[in-house]
Amino acid sequence: VSFGYQDVDPDEKTRRVGEVFSNVASKYDLMNDAMSGGLHRIWKDVFVRRVKPRAGEHILDMAGGTGDIAFRMAPSGAAITVADINPEMLEVGMERAAKRGLDGMVWTEANAEELQFPDKFFDAYTIAFGIRNVTDIPKALREAHRVLKRGGRFFVLEFSTTQWPGFADVYDAYSHKLVPQLGKLLAQDADSYRYLIESIRRFPDMPSFEKMIGEAGFVRTKVEPMLGGLVAIHSGWKI
Ligand code: SAM
Repeated sequence: VSFGYQDVDPDEKTRRVGEVFSNVASKYDLMNDAMSGGLHRIWKDVFVRRVKPRAGEHILDMAGGTGDIAFRMAPSGAAITVADINPEMLEVGMERAAKRGLDGMVWTEANAEELQFPDKFFDAYTIAFGIRNVTDIPKALREAHRVLKRGGRFFVLEFSTTQWPGFADVYDAYSHKLVPQLGKLLAQDADSYRYLIESIRRFPDMPSFEKMIGEAGFVRTKVEPMLGGLVAIHSGWKI
């Protein structure tokens, strides 16, 4: 079983993740704003600035959910494929795209561990707040590497571990008490949010995750911590 989840049966984890995102899909965007105080919007803006999408490129936004990253990349003129394992999340995303008049994107169901795309197809691969939910993370990283062209760019936006000591304590108290309460209040679902917080706690720290990216074949790997590493952008290149 994948890194950091040794005590969880893989099928059970994939099923549980499916359930969580089916439960939260309709409230997902509201909850992101509520839980991060709107900060997730800034993190996503910075992330897309690092990706630098360009017209004519093919970009895969993996675990793209309701489209937050894809919508930020769309103005570049890049051809964007949004892939996610959860049809309910994609459904919300497609409705949002229609409302915004963004009809050029491809929305498709896919498991990050086993992609239906050919080798060396995409110029860039993005995954935001998605990789920690994947059961076999090394497998997903290898798939990302496979579908990228040579010279392709790989970007992960994910919660990590903040190295600011006082802040870590505040965050811990916040996430374990307040987040499930917010989940109960706004989405009538405390358990799903308890799972999400737990999955953040279990995710490998920055050096370990950077190493995993290297092991999947990426080079010139880099980490950019935000808020001391509460959130981080990991990136690498395929050569
Ligand atoms: N990227 C979007 C964003 O930043 O708003 C959505 C992030 S949401 C927290 C995580 C997404 O990962 C969910 O839509 C979930 O369905 C998806 N997901 C979880 N496991 C996956 C897997 N194995 N393959 C593809 N998507 C997965």
